[in-house]
Amino acid sequence: MMFNLILFGPPGSGKGTQSENLISRYGLKHLSTGDLLRSEIARQTPLGLEAKNFMDKGQLVPDEVVIGMISSALDQNPQSKGFLFDGFPRTSAQAEALDKLLELKHTSISVMLALDVSEEELVKRLLKRGETSGRSDDTNEQVIRARITEYHNKTAAVADYYRKFDKVRMVKGEGTIDDIFNSLCQEIDKRMVHQIS
Ligand code: ADP
Repeated sequence: MMFNLILFGPPGSGKGTQSENLISRYGLKHLSTGDLLRSEIARQTPLGLEAKNFMDKGQLVPDEVVIGMISSALDQNPQSKGFLFDGFPRTSAQAEALDKLLELKHTSISVMLALDVSEEELVKRLLKRGETSGRSDDTNEQVIRARITEYHNKTAAVADYYRKFDKVRMVKGEGTIDDIFNSLCQEIDKRMVHQIS
Protein backbone atom coordinates (compact mmCIF):
# COMPACT_ATOMS: atom_id res chain seq x y z
CA MET A 1 0.00 0.00 0.00
CA MET A 2 1.33 3.43 -0.95
CA PHE A 3 1.71 6.40 1.38
CA ASN A 4 1.05 9.66 -0.45
CA LEU A 5 1.73 12.93 1.30
CA ILE A 6 1.08 16.53 0.32
CA LEU A 7 3.40 19.04 1.94
CA PHE A 8 1.46 22.28 1.80
CA GLY A 9 2.12 25.91 2.62
CA PRO A 10 2.78 29.33 1.12
CA PRO A 11 5.96 30.17 -0.82
CA GLY A 12 8.88 30.24 1.59
CA SER A 13 7.20 28.06 4.19
CA GLY A 14 10.01 25.49 4.01
CA LYS A 15 8.46 22.80 1.83
CA GLY A 16 11.64 22.21 -0.17
CA THR A 17 13.89 21.92 2.88
CA GLN A 18 11.56 19.60 4.77
CA SER A 19 10.83 17.52 1.66
CA GLU A 20 14.50 16.61 1.31
CA ASN A 21 14.58 15.32 4.89
CA LEU A 22 11.25 13.53 4.63
CA ILE A 23 12.04 11.61 1.44
CA SER A 24 15.26 10.31 2.89
CA ARG A 25 13.56 9.15 6.11
CA TYR A 26 10.52 7.57 4.50
CA GLY A 27 11.77 6.53 1.05
CA LEU A 28 9.09 8.48 -0.77
CA LYS A 29 9.50 9.83 -4.31
CA HIS A 30 9.72 13.64 -4.25
CA LEU A 31 7.53 15.38 -6.82
CA SER A 32 8.06 19.15 -6.78
CA THR A 33 6.31 20.97 -9.61
CA GLY A 34 8.61 23.97 -9.00
CA ASP A 35 11.70 21.78 -9.50
CA LEU A 36 10.17 20.03 -12.51
CA LEU A 37 9.34 23.40 -14.10
CA ARG A 38 12.82 24.82 -13.40
CA SER A 39 14.34 21.74 -15.02
CA GLU A 40 12.17 22.29 -18.13
CA ILE A 41 13.35 25.93 -18.21
CA ALA A 42 17.01 24.91 -17.86
CA ARG A 43 16.60 22.50 -20.79
CA GLN A 44 14.77 25.22 -22.76
CA THR A 45 11.91 22.93 -23.69
CA PRO A 46 8.73 24.46 -25.19
CA LEU A 47 6.95 23.69 -21.90
CA GLY A 48 9.70 25.44 -19.96
CA LEU A 49 9.63 28.50 -22.18
CA GLU A 50 5.87 28.80 -21.73
CA ALA A 51 6.04 28.29 -17.97
CA LYS A 52 8.79 30.88 -17.51
CA ASN A 53 6.49 33.71 -18.62
CA PHE A 54 4.17 32.97 -15.72
CA MET A 55 6.82 32.18 -13.13
CA ASP A 56 8.76 35.40 -13.75
CA LYS A 57 5.62 37.35 -12.90
CA GLY A 58 4.88 35.35 -9.77
CA GLN A 59 1.79 33.82 -11.39
CA LEU A 60 0.73 30.20 -11.39
CA VAL A 61 1.48 28.16 -14.50
CA PRO A 62 -1.71 26.89 -16.25
CA ASP A 63 -3.29 23.81 -14.64
CA GLU A 64 -3.05 21.57 -17.71
CA VAL A 65 0.71 22.09 -17.87
CA VAL A 66 1.44 21.02 -14.30
CA ILE A 67 -1.17 18.26 -14.27
CA GLY A 68 0.44 16.78 -17.39
CA MET A 69 3.87 16.89 -15.73
CA ILE A 70 2.59 15.15 -12.61
CA SER A 71 0.72 12.55 -14.63
CA SER A 72 3.87 11.51 -16.48
CA ALA A 73 5.95 11.55 -13.29
CA LEU A 74 3.45 9.14 -11.69
CA ASP A 75 3.63 6.87 -14.73
CA GLN A 76 7.43 6.91 -14.61
CA ASN A 77 7.50 5.67 -11.00
CA PRO A 78 5.16 2.67 -10.82
CA GLN A 79 7.21 0.93 -8.11
CA SER A 80 7.32 3.84 -5.66
CA LYS A 81 6.41 3.25 -1.98
CA GLY A 82 4.60 6.55 -2.18
CA PHE A 83 4.90 10.15 -3.30
CA LEU A 84 5.62 13.40 -1.55
CA PHE A 85 3.86 16.19 -3.44
CA ASP A 86 5.60 19.53 -2.93
CA GLY A 87 4.06 22.66 -4.46
CA PHE A 88 1.25 20.59 -5.97
CA PRO A 89 -1.75 20.74 -6.01
CA ARG A 90 -1.91 24.55 -6.04
CA THR A 91 -5.50 25.01 -7.30
CA SER A 92 -8.76 23.16 -6.67
CA ALA A 93 -8.71 21.90 -10.28
CA GLN A 94 -5.25 20.42 -9.67
CA ALA A 95 -6.49 18.75 -6.48
CA GLU A 96 -9.39 17.12 -8.29
CA ALA A 97 -7.12 16.00 -11.12
CA LEU A 98 -4.64 14.52 -8.65
CA ASP A 99 -7.36 12.53 -6.90
CA LYS A 100 -8.43 11.07 -10.24
CA LEU A 101 -4.84 10.18 -11.23
CA LEU A 102 -4.27 8.44 -7.90
CA GLU A 103 -7.58 6.61 -8.18
CA LEU A 104 -6.42 5.14 -11.49
CA LYS A 105 -3.49 3.72 -9.52
CA HIS A 106 -5.82 2.41 -6.80
CA THR A 107 -4.37 4.75 -4.22
CA SER A 108 -5.14 8.13 -2.64
CA ILE A 109 -3.73 10.99 -0.55
CA SER A 110 -2.96 9.80 2.97
CA VAL A 111 -2.57 13.23 4.55
CA MET A 112 -1.88 16.89 3.81
CA LEU A 113 0.59 18.50 6.22
CA ALA A 114 0.23 22.28 6.08
CA LEU A 115 3.12 24.46 7.25
CA ASP A 116 1.95 27.55 9.08
CA VAL A 117 4.26 30.60 8.78
CA SER A 118 3.49 34.31 9.21
CA GLU A 119 3.56 36.51 6.13
CA GLU A 120 6.30 38.75 7.50
CA GLU A 121 8.55 35.74 8.05
CA LEU A 122 7.80 34.44 4.51
CA VAL A 123 8.93 37.62 2.78
CA LYS A 124 12.06 37.75 4.94
CA ARG A 125 12.98 34.15 4.12
CA LEU A 126 12.33 34.51 0.38
CA LEU A 127 14.42 37.68 0.05
CA LYS A 128 17.24 35.96 1.94
CA ARG A 129 16.97 32.87 -0.28
CA GLY A 130 17.14 35.18 -3.31
CA GLU A 131 20.63 36.28 -2.27
CA THR A 132 21.99 32.79 -2.98
CA SER A 133 19.41 30.63 -4.80
CA GLY A 134 19.89 32.12 -8.24
CA ARG A 135 16.10 32.14 -8.52
CA SER A 136 14.97 35.34 -10.21
CA ASP A 137 11.51 35.03 -8.62
CA ASP A 138 13.11 35.40 -5.16
CA THR A 139 15.02 38.64 -5.71
CA ASN A 140 12.14 41.01 -6.47
CA GLU A 141 9.84 41.89 -3.58
CA GLN A 142 6.98 42.64 -5.98
CA VAL A 143 7.19 39.14 -7.50
CA ILE A 144 7.32 37.64 -3.99
CA ARG A 145 4.19 39.58 -3.01
CA ALA A 146 2.49 38.42 -6.23
CA ARG A 147 3.26 34.78 -5.36
CA ILE A 148 1.80 35.22 -1.90
CA THR A 149 -1.31 36.84 -3.41
CA GLU A 150 -1.69 33.89 -5.83
CA TYR A 151 -1.41 31.62 -2.80
CA HIS A 152 -4.25 33.40 -1.00
CA ASN A 153 -6.45 33.68 -4.09
CA LYS A 154 -6.04 30.23 -5.60
CA THR A 155 -4.01 27.88 -3.44
CA ALA A 156 -5.39 28.31 0.08
CA ALA A 157 -8.66 26.73 -1.16
CA VAL A 158 -6.81 23.46 -1.78
CA ALA A 159 -6.63 22.96 2.00
CA ASP A 160 -10.42 23.39 2.18
CA TYR A 161 -10.77 20.67 -0.45
CA TYR A 162 -8.82 18.13 1.64
CA ARG A 163 -10.41 19.36 4.88
CA LYS A 164 -13.71 17.96 3.59
CA PHE A 165 -12.09 14.52 3.77
CA ASP A 166 -10.49 15.29 7.15
CA LYS A 167 -7.02 14.93 5.65
CA VAL A 168 -5.41 18.22 6.75
CA ARG A 169 -3.07 18.68 9.68
CA MET A 170 -1.52 22.07 10.47
CA VAL A 171 2.11 22.07 11.58
CA LYS A 172 3.92 25.07 13.02
CA GLY A 173 6.42 26.14 10.35
CA GLU A 174 8.48 28.52 12.51
CA GLY A 175 11.28 27.41 14.82
CA THR A 176 14.32 25.26 14.04
CA ILE A 177 14.40 23.02 10.96
CA ASP A 178 14.81 20.02 13.26
CA ASP A 179 11.82 20.90 15.43
CA ILE A 180 9.61 21.35 12.40
CA PHE A 181 10.90 18.09 10.92
CA ASN A 182 10.07 16.26 14.15
CA SER A 183 6.52 17.65 14.17
CA LEU A 184 6.03 16.48 10.59
CA CYS A 185 7.42 13.02 11.38
CA GLN A 186 5.06 12.65 14.34
CA GLU A 187 2.06 13.22 12.09
CA ILE A 188 3.37 10.78 9.48
CA ASP A 189 4.26 8.07 11.98
CA LYS A 190 0.76 8.12 13.45
CA ARG A 191 -0.69 7.45 10.04
CA MET A 192 1.88 5.04 8.62
CA VAL A 193 1.54 2.70 11.59
CA HIS A 194 -2.20 2.95 11.18
CA GLN A 195 -2.00 2.05 7.56
CA ILE A 196 0.31 -0.94 8.05
CA SER A 197 -1.58 -2.51 10.98
P1 ADP B 1 7.60 28.54 -4.03
O1 ADP B 1 6.66 27.60 -3.38
O2 ADP B 1 8.77 28.86 -3.17
O3 ADP B 1 6.93 29.76 -4.60
P2 ADP B 1 8.03 26.66 -6.23
O4 ADP B 1 9.41 26.25 -6.57
O5 ADP B 1 7.13 25.64 -5.66
O6 ADP B 1 8.25 27.89 -5.29
O7 ADP B 1 7.30 27.28 -7.52
C1 ADP B 1 7.86 28.35 -8.25
C2 ADP B 1 6.86 28.83 -9.31
O8 ADP B 1 6.53 27.75 -10.21
C3 ADP B 1 5.51 29.31 -8.78
O9 ADP B 1 5.54 30.66 -8.40
C4 ADP B 1 4.59 29.05 -9.99
O10 ADP B 1 4.73 30.06 -10.96
C5 ADP B 1 5.15 27.79 -10.59
N1 ADP B 1 4.47 26.57 -10.06
C6 ADP B 1 5.02 25.61 -9.27
N2 ADP B 1 4.11 24.65 -8.98
C7 ADP B 1 2.96 25.01 -9.59
C8 ADP B 1 1.65 24.46 -9.68
N3 ADP B 1 1.33 23.31 -9.05
N4 ADP B 1 0.70 25.10 -10.41
C9 ADP B 1 1.00 26.24 -11.04
N5 ADP B 1 2.20 26.82 -11.01
C10 ADP B 1 3.19 26.24 -10.30
